[in-house]
Amino acid sequence: VRDGLWMPSVRLDRANTFGLPAEAEFVCRPKHLDELRTVVAEAQKRGLEWWVMGGGSNLLLGPQIGGVCLMPAITGIKVVVETEDDVTLDVGAGVNWHELVRFAVGQGWSGIENLALIPGTVGAAPIQNIGAYGVEIAESTVGVHVLRCADLGQELLPAEACGFSYRSSVFKTTAKGRYLITGLRLCLSRRFVARDDYPDVAQELRRMGLAQPVHPAQVAEAVTRVRRRKLPDWRRFGNAGSFFQNPVVSTEHFARLQRDIPDLAGYPAAKGYKVSAARLIDLAGWKGRREGAILVWPRQPLVLVNTGGGTASQVLTLAERIVNDVVRRFAVQLVPEVQLVGISHAISAESSAQDRQG
Ligand code: NAP
Repeated sequence: VRDGLWMPSVRLDRANTFGLPAEAEFVCRPKHLDELRTVVAEAQKRGLEWWVMGGGSNLLLGPQIGGVCLMPAITGIKVVVETEDDVTLDVGAGVNWHELVRFAVGQGWSGIENLALIPGTVGAAPIQNIGAYGVEIAESTVGVHVLRCADLGQELLPAEACGFSYRSSVFKTTAKGRYLITGLRLCLSRRFVARDDYPDVAQELRRMGLAQPVHPAQVAEAVTRVRRRKLPDWRRFGNAGSFFQNPVVSTEHFARLQRDIPDLAGYPAAKGYKVSAARLIDLAGWKGRREGAILVWPRQPLVLVNTGGGTASQVLTLAERIVNDVVRRFAVQLVPEVQLVGISHAISAESSAQDRQG
């Protein structure tokens, strides 16, 4: 996709990491706040709906998407405050997330090193409160810079107003569509304390001869190695990362599950226990299965892969089969983590595979 405003009929096939065929009615790539304001005002005037695409790494796109696809290209990393202990940064929504992690660990600043190699942009990160290996972006977020859609005014929403919870925030729930995220204010620490309690990370650090890491770059490197090993590279195998969220079940439900699956791990969560969606999908026999062009990734069955020529409809059909099977076997309802755009059909157990776009 080229830089510019109001580009009509734009193919997004190579702009979404799933590699699904899709066309947007319009695409706009505003490079600064004023351009973004102009575009939104124009869309409102024309009565066009708009949607936002960051890195295109968490999306399931339908084939024809009406309205305006906004790709905020606001860049820049600026130090706002520096103290002996920490540093506060303003980062543009269009900055690549992993580039930010690399920059931060390069400076020796700590707080987001466990989030290395997560695809996507900085602007998308707070929406689902990206998290990995025991760390969430919410922990280092001071606030989120937004443009209010109602009056196009600018605001720094403090973290407390963002309603961060496990893979969620107000931006995808109660305030959906109310704001456009233009940047993130983060506070990173100059004093490194390793967060290496996840077995995958601890094991990798030991393998690297760094059982006691002393620098955030070492943790970032361990996380990068683990992710490279487990996850398919979307440039070769189109995918949108974890397709489903890890479910939280009640304490009673978890006890019932453990009666049948004694070694099922569960981690205390706000309302019960969080269990691994990948483990349930594996137990249901879906790991490594392929239907048409779509493959359930053998090394991480939470990832669905477009092996080439796949369509949104094929992904939806397979996803729904998995959801139905997991409900039938374990009474656990898997919920997609990917966002559906230009698709009227919702993925849920027992819903019909017919009448969907794509
Ligand atoms: P994993 O490490 O195999 O973990 C599977 C599940 O078990 C997750 O729900 C994870 O919780 C939980 N878990 C594992 N060890 C835990 C511990 N020591 N304490 C508490 N909970 C524990 O997951 P994976 O699929 O390979 O993914 C690796 C990491 O990347 C995970 O943290 C996962 O959540 C994260 N991830 C995040 C996103 C996103 O932000 N959208 C997408 C894909 C993967 P947590 O989910 O709380 O870690």
